[in-house]
Amino acid sequence: MPDECWRGELARTIRTETDLAARVRLDEREREGIRSAGERYPWRITPYYAGLMDPDDPACPIRRQAIPAPEELHDPLGTRDPIGEEPRSPAPNLIRLYRDRVAWCVTAACPVNCRFCFRKRLVASPDAGDYSAAARREALEYIARTPEIRDVLVTGGDPLMLPDETIADILGSLRAIGHVEIVRIGTRTPVTLPQRITPELCAVLEQHHPLWINTHFNHPKELAPEAVAACARLAAAGIPLGNQSVLLKGINDDVPTMLALVQGLVKVRVRPYYLFQCHLAPGTAHFRTPVETGLAIVSALRGSTTGFAVPTYVVDTPRGKVALSPQTIVERTPDAVVLRCPDGSTWTEPNPR
Ligand code: SF4
Repeated sequence: MPDECWRGELARTIRTETDLAARVRLDEREREGIRSAGERYPWRITPYYAGLMDPDDPACPIRRQAIPAPEELHDPLGTRDPIGEEPRSPAPNLIRLYRDRVAWCVTAACPVNCRFCFRKRLVASPDAGDYSAAARREALEYIARTPEIRDVLVTGGDPLMLPDETIADILGSLRAIGHVEIVRIGTRTPVTLPQRITPELCAVLEQHHPLWINTHFNHPKELAPEAVAACARLAAAGIPLGNQSVLLKGINDDVPTMLALVQGLVKVRVRPYYLFQCHLAPGTAHFRTPVETGLAIVSALRGSTTGFAVPTYVVDTPRGKVALSPQTIVERTPDAVVLRCPDGSTWTEPNPR
C-alpha cells in the first residue's frame, strides 16, 4: 500500500457542504450544523470515513460522529480543557498528569475532526501551538532530564498524520533515553484513515518495541474490512493493540451495539481497554449519557462475553482517571461477602480474616 494512497485520501478530504452533499443526503439539521457549529468547531472528513456513512440515514453513527450538529452550540458545561492539561505542561506540547508518565502531543492534525473530541482546543484550532522540530527537541530534553518518566504516550491530534521519517525520529529519540521503558501511540487512523497503516510505517514501528498502540473505535460499523486489515498489519508487526471508546448518546449507548463492538474488536486482536464517560469538552452536551447508562452496559457485558473483552469504564477527571464499576458486593458479614452474580442471583463467598 503506497504512501500516495493515504496522502491521496487526505488531499481529497471533504470540507464543504457541497462535497459532503455529493455523498450523503444531508438533512436540514445537518446543513444547519455545518453552517453554524461547523464555523465554531471546524470539520473535515476523509472520503474513506464518509464512505462508511449511510447516505439516507441522518442517525447513522458515522454521520453523527463526524458531521457538525446545531446542538454543539448549546453546551453550558463544556470546558476548553476538561481534564486540566494546560496548567500541567512542563515543556511544549508535553502533559504530565502523573509522576511516571507523560502524554506528548506531537501534532494537532487529525484525518477527521471528531465532534466529541476532548482536545478541541488543539485539534483544528488556530491556537494549536508550535509543533516544530525545535519544540520537539525541547520536549525530548525535558523527558531526558526527568528520570521518573518511564512511559511516554505519543498522541495529538493524531501522531500518525506525521511522515514516516518524523515518526522514526520521534521513536528513535525516545528509545535513546534509557529510563523510557515503554512508548505508546494513540491513533484513530485505523478507524478514519486505515490506508495510513502502510507496510513501510509498520517496518518503522516494529523497530521500536516495546511499543503499544491504542486506537479508537466507537461503533461496530467502523470495523470495516479496510480497518480490520490495518489492525492486522499492526498486530503482525508485533504491536499489542488496545481500544479506547467514548460512550456517546445515540451512537453506542446500548448493550447490543457495545457487545458487537467489543466482540468485533477481540476478533481482530484489539483488546477493549477503556470506555470513557464523554468528557466535558465544548460542544458535546448532546453526546453525554448518565453514568448509570455506562454502568448498566458494563454490567451487561460482564455477564455476556469474554472477560478481557470488557473495557474498564472510566471518568477522566482533572485529578486522574476514576474507574467505575457496578456494585457487586451487596452485603458484608464478619466472615463473608454477599456478591451479585452476572445472572442477578447472589452468592455468599467466605472472606478469611
Ligand atoms: S482523532 Fe482523537 S484527537 Fe483527533 S479529533 Fe478525533 S478524538 Fe480528537
